[in-house]
Amino acid sequence: MKLLEGKRGLVFGVANERSIAWSIAEAAVAQGAEVGLNYLGDRMERRVRPLAERLEAPLCLPCDVTDEAQLDAFFARATEVFEGRLDFLVHSLAFARREELGGRFLDTSREGFALALDISAYSLVELTRRAAPLLTDGGSVVALTYYGAEKVVPNYNVMGPAKAALEACVRYLACDLGADAVRVNGLSAGPVRTLAAAGIPGFRGMLKACAERAPLRRNITQAEVADAALFLLSDLSRAVTGEVLHVDAGYHVTGA
Ligand code: NAD
Repeated sequence: MKLLEGKRGLVFGVANERSIAWSIAEAAVAQGAEVGLNYLGDRMERRVRPLAERLEAPLCLPCDVTDEAQLDAFFARATEVFEGRLDFLVHSLAFARREELGGRFLDTSREGFALALDISAYSLVELTRRAAPLLTDGGSVVALTYYGAEKVVPNYNVMGPAKAALEACVRYLACDLGADAVRVNGLSAGPVRTLAAAGIPGFRGMLKACAERAPLRRNITQAEVADAALFLLSDLSRAVTGEVLHVDAGYHVTGA
């Protein structure tokens, strides 16, 4: 029996084949799930639609998490396509303006702060609230986060508080939804080369530090994050909620 046999889920955040969301969607389908995908704007559609076809995804629609009309249309269609029942939701998206990454965190603008927190953290609340009525038989929500939520990482800047807020949202949502057998967890991935990572100045240094200092002395891959996501999405983790699981070769346990 496959881990996600018969399960249906939404995976938010596929931009291309390097996306963590893509690895998770691919792994979920390989384990018997049906997945619906979103994409951000026309430019992304050209890349994401062929990927959705590879997975025979029954749903692939635009959904900018700041756009109410797109959110309404996405979830209305998801409700139809999946006949009112979902089992999981993956939140693998984040955004900060380029000018807010690098330089001093002190110089973060009010607008830049609000935008990063809105797209990267509040969207988990929004998507979970919209998915909750469809998680009729319990379910699992997984959000991608990073160590910069816990410790200061050079240049990560406004994304640090955004991920800290995201991780707090994971815990609050876990408490709200636990009575409905819906679990909510975070997955804290080590640095991995993706489109979003390319926007962080000095990203190469983050990879180097992880490879040198992590207990496993190496970097991680998208496929390894996806394997951990399979655990959190499946019944194997049925007693785990409100947790942030690190998939970072152990980097987060190291000190000086
Ligand atoms: P990615 O660029 O492939 O994915 C980021 C996604 O966010 C894209 O699909 C983009 O379209 C989406 N997005 C941005 N603004 C959006 C909006 N307004 N509405 C809807 N979608 C929007 O990069 P990734 O590295 O796979 O990022 C996925 C998640 O993993 C993010 O939460 C990121 O912070 C997290 N993460 C990444 C790393 C890393 O090193 N790459 C490490 C830890 C955590």
